[in-house]
Amino acid sequence: MLLQDKVAFITGSASGIGREIAFTFAREGAKIVIADLNQEAANATAAELAATGAQAMGVTVDVTQEDQVNQAVQQAVDRFGGVDILISNAGVQIVHPVEEFEFADWKKMLAIHLDGAFLTTKACLKHMYAAGKGGSVIYMGSVHSKEASLLKAPYVTAKHGLIGLAKVVAKEGAQHRVRANVICPGFVRTPLVEKQIPEQAKTLGISEAEVIKNVMLKETVDGEFTTTADVAQVALMFASFPTNALTGQSLVVSHGWFMQ
Ligand code: NAD
Repeated sequence: MLLQDKVAFITGSASGIGREIAFTFAREGAKIVIADLNQEAANATAAELAATGAQAMGVTVDVTQEDQVNQAVQQAVDRFGGVDILISNAGVQIVHPVEEFEFADWKKMLAIHLDGAFLTTKACLKHMYAAGKGGSVIYMGSVHSKEASLLKAPYVTAKHGLIGLAKVVAKEGAQHRVRANVICPGFVRTPLVEKQIPEQAKTLGISEAEVIKNVMLKETVDGEFTTTADVAQVALMFASFPTNALTGQSLVVSHGWFMQ
């Protein structure tokens, strides 16, 4: 098993991509911390994992709140003895044209995606460095870490920013054998995307089918959505890679929507 007894702290893992990563890592022997704003769903997901024989715990956390993040990471350390892998994945989407974007919504987006990444990284790095066993920090970026789309100013800004953070953590973490990388998925049919389809249809004045075909999947090589399993496989590769050879990178998994 690739992650035997590694402890993975995964934010936003009560749903969608994070949830899939949790189950994938558990099958590889990892101990899983489901860290999510949604307490009920976090505990239910941890219970489902435990029912498969995995070691798992749910913790309630708003990743924008420093005290809550520190407490949640401490709970994980108290239960499992440390943190080896951080997946900073919690995220939301709010779409408007720039001239109509409420400042409060802009700040909320940057707080969840960037403050959340910073606070969870800071809290986990301390434990990784102290344990001296190395570690892996993985940020959930997006094709929007590389490309822009209409209506997504704060999301695109934040997702680009995660690449900068990962590069700094890669440099600072190297001496402790802590690696940092970014996964950049194309559109994945999670609740986050299901919500956007009708919103974009309304804002752009087109049908929901047109949003899928002509907006979301237009630039892919085959008109296909990326799946949560596709993203989880990339996360597993980053998490289990043994050396600093693979650090400071961002990998796009998007059916060729973005090619670099
Ligand atoms: P999702 O809505 O299925 O899951 C997001 C989870 O994050 C939820 O469980 C939610 O409760 C949690 N969350 C939201 N705000 C939080 C907060 N402040 N603190 C803690 N938890 C919080 O979404 P998803 O599609 O699985 O998205 C996961 C990540 O993947 C996000 O960062 C998103 O930007 C990124 N992403 C998604 C897609 C896609 O197409 N779905 C593509 C590229 C990147």
